[in-house]
Amino acid sequence: MKKISLMGATGSIGIQTLDVLREHPEEFKLVALSVGKNIIEARKMINEFTPSLVSVQLKKDADQLIRELPSSVKVLYGEEGLVEVACHQDADILVNAVLGSVGLYPTLKAIEAGKTIAIANKETLVTAGHLVMDAAKSKEVTLLPVDSEHSAIFQALQGEQEKNIEKLIITASGGSFRDRTREELVGVSVKEALNHPNWSMGAKITIDSASMMNKGLEVIEAHWLFDIPYEKIEVLQHRESIIHSMIQFHDSSVMAQLGTPDMRVPIQYALTYPDRLPRPNGKRLNLAEIGQLHFEKMNYERFRCLHFAYEAGRIGGSMTTVLNAANEAAVALFLDNKIAFLEIEEVIEKALNSHEVIHRPDLETILTIDKQTRSSITNGI
Ligand code: NDP
Ligand code: MG
Repeated sequence: MKKISLMGATGSIGIQTLDVLREHPEEFKLVALSVGKNIIEARKMINEFTPSLVSVQLKKDADQLIRELPSSVKVLYGEEGLVEVACHQDADILVNAVLGSVGLYPTLKAIEAGKTIAIANKETLVTAGHLVMDAAKSKEVTLLPVDSEHSAIFQALQGEQEKNIEKLIITASGGSFRDRTREELVGVSVKEALNHPNWSMGAKITIDSASMMNKGLEVIEAHWLFDIPYEKIEVLQHRESIIHSMIQFHDSSVMAQLGTPDMRVPIQYALTYPDRLPRPNGKRLNLAEIGQLHFEKMNYERFRCLHFAYEAGRIGGSMTTVLNAANEAAVALFLDNKIAFLEIEEVIEKALNSHEVIHRPDLETILTIDKQTRSSITNGI
């Protein structure tokens, strides 16, 4: 039986991770979980999965849970709580499904503790990929991708050698506004942006999909996870989200991974790798029913955030920290109706242009730049 610790249990990936655990009670046991502010759902999860450690974002919620729960359940809060969940001594695998660069420090601590990590939290790799990958290498820790594109590449790589890769082809659905021109994006509402055609996800990543920043973050994530230079990473628009990504090898052969869009598949694969478990209720792919798959070249003028991400990635160092922090801050402002959808791009562009890159920044520098970038954006509105 594998023991699992889960950061971000109340989120979209967290909930689907619990679905996987529920489908295979004989295979997995949840030993620790963290949530943010959703205490109502947390209570139900604690009752169902009986973890021995729980962490919440706020002290007042921790105090409330301590009053309610038996003393056998340890309750913590804030960063310290996240770190304890990340490093839980009994856990065989940490699922990092927290949102944003708040996941960075606990991830580094989990690596230090030698934990295998199933990583959904792409912002951590974007903000400090070099720190995470260097630490994972020196501690010989395995990072298992959860993001569907990276899981696809990882699956297609089984039995292959990274040195034989000619390029990675990351597919992009195009998000909620894929059929609109830039002019038609003026004044779009939060509700429209949250209406993703293929995937049901958390609010931030759904906005990132609409702006194409999600694909940009994924390009940087792929760069770090697979140690591939940016010129060998291509993005291809594929509206059906059936081919989750591909690898083209030097001999011109292309390996792809396909399936109906369901995040429980890559989550489960990360938890069972290198084995697979049955998913009797998982929807099977029926290509005859689908009939056609569509592919289009990406338009970098239409989707400027993708262009920013490649630029920031190529410059490297602290530039991707700024990209990520500016995007997190801008998306939060858009979700709060404080800026328009197209202003997300403007805010990010301004932050990138005003930053002087620091190469190979250490953790302290990254945390400072992350904080400064967010506050200058939030206070500037
Ligand atoms: P959600 O917004 O649905 O969930 C985020 C989770 O993180 C929630 O449990 C939330 O708690 C918690 N959280 C947020 N801020 C904090 C904080 N400051 N301290 C502690 N906990 C916090 O996000 P998703 O599940 O959509 O995404 C999670 C990660 O996975 C992201 O990095 C995303 O890019 C990535 N990902 C998501 C996919 C998807 O299909 N959703 C696909 C591929 C990658 P609470 O709600 O209790 O406040
Ligand atoms: Mg993805």
